[in-house]
Amino acid sequence: MEPELVDVVVVGLGVGGEEVAGRLAEAGLSVVGIERDLVGGECPYWGCVPSKMMIRAANTLAEAHRVHEFAGSTRVSPDWAPVADRIRAEATDNWDDRVAVERFGNQGGRFIRGSGRLDGPGRVRVNDQVFQARHGIVLSTGTRPAAPPIDGLAETPYWTNHQAIEVAQLPDSLLVLGGGAIGLELTQVFARFGVQVTVVEALDRVLATEEPESSEVVAAALRADGVNIHTDVLADRVDHDGQKFTLRADDARYTADRLLVVTGRQAHLDELGLDTVGIRADQRFLPVDDRLRVAEGIWAVGDVTGAGAFTHVATYQAGIVVADLLDRVRRADAVEGPERDRSGTGAGTDPNGTAVPRADYRALPRVTFTDPEVGAVGLTESQARQRGINVQVGSVSLGSSARGWIHRADGLIKLVADADRGVLVGGTSVGPAGGEVLSGLAVAVHAAVPLAELRSMIYAYPTFYRAISDALRDLG
Ligand SMILES: Cc1cc2nc3c(=O)[nH]c(=O)nc-3n(C[C@H](O)[C@H](O)[C@H](O)COP(=O)(O)OP(=O)(O)OC[C@H]3O[C@@H](n4cnc5c(N)ncnc54)[C@H](O)[C@@H]3O)c2cc1C
Repeated sequence: MEPELVDVVVVGLGVGGEEVAGRLAEAGLSVVGIERDLVGGECPYWGCVPSKMMIRAANTLAEAHRVHEFAGSTRVSPDWAPVADRIRAEATDNWDDRVAVERFGNQGGRFIRGSGRLDGPGRVRVNDQVFQARHGIVLSTGTRPAAPPIDGLAETPYWTNHQAIEVAQLPDSLLVLGGGAIGLELTQVFARFGVQVTVVEALDRVLATEEPESSEVVAAALRADGVNIHTDVLADRVDHDGQKFTLRADDARYTADRLLVVTGRQAHLDELGLDTVGIRADQRFLPVDDRLRVAEGIWAVGDVTGAGAFTHVATYQAGIVVADLLDRVRRADAVEGPERDRSGTGAGTDPNGTAVPRADYRALPRVTFTDPEVGAVGLTESQARQRGINVQVGSVSLGSSARGWIHRADGLIKLVADADRGVLVGGTSVGPAGGEVLSGLAVAVHAAVPLAELRSMIYAYPTFYRAISDALRDLG
């Protein structure tokens, strides 16, 4: 079959691909967007949005339970139905992407439902069609939940984040395998709705990629919510007897009605036809340069690049890919003469098409939306030391700040500075609004604001973020 000539083909319309495809279509390019499941991907249907709706609900329960501490008494009767209903009606449209498909069409894109794969240089095959991309192909195929190779696990009806988000009726008990951000957020939600939750983690602490102090605060908060946490446990077998799951590790056995496996995510590169363009498929992620180029005429965005499994990474990268692709189109037009109106070439690109931004992850922010929230940016103390930085650390407990004391809040601010350069290279804010307080630290790390400048600022009293000034004093 003759391939059909288009400007750009985007394979996978999660948050990253949707952003690239929509913006390029709005810029006047002929864009084919291919999605095999739901346009929008993991974030709106099984990730960020519904999980944060659950968290919002669970946190109202937790606040209500604190009324007796501050304001009298109350009776709380948790009910999962409004949460499940809200996720179905408001977040996911009952897991229907009609609105997103329509939006892409209105932007000028052409949508095809199916699995796309490369079919030689510049070509993508989907269903029984083949497209030849004049300017580029963007691979934004994300990741899927990865399950560890534990005996018996694959034969059991365990949950991934999909079943956990779609659940309409809560189980009495839940085993959570994996103590990372996603596992802990869902753990706290279910525990606050009365589920007996047990977390099993192979490493020596939960939230192991963040500062040890953050792990301690979150573990204590979860225990206060009634969660059992077991670290340093290497599961060696899982069984399901039709009713209960049993997880075994040496002599220990953990049993529950449901098992949620949240031990990481995996890109499935073997499905993409990478061999047809000379790219190895036996890699963990698609290797990209700082303009997200994988190879001549091929870009990648989002989780599939391994730069950080966050929606804000996918959309950040999407902006760079859009700028780079439009730059390439302009250059091609300059040689061949413009063929179409590209007046709406989109924000962030240089009108001369010369200043394509480069990806820079120095100030990558991360938020774990437990209560207390863990916000972090840049390097942790141990990462900074591993890089040979002359590290200086300052930290304060939130309880020693006026707002933290008033709130009876747990948390901390921890700053990691490069003493030679006199700037922050990392920061952590744990507390009731840890993700929001993080914004100040993110600016400081991103813009390499001198410590002297940070010390000379006025910090509003009594805010949570004012604790940053105490942590700066602790830096010395
Ligand atoms: C429970 C949970 C909570 C999360 N919370 C947050 C949060 O609070 N904040 C945050 O920043 N991030 C969060 N994330 C992470 C966030 O969801 C991802 O980083 C984001 O969805 C990545 O977007 P993406 O476009 O790279 O991939 P995805 O969203 O995974 O989209 C990829 C799309 O490609 C499609 N696809 C794959 N292969 C093909 C193919 N061959 N042909 C056609 N289509 C294909 C898939 O069907 C999918 O729709 C959370 C994730 C989970 C699981």
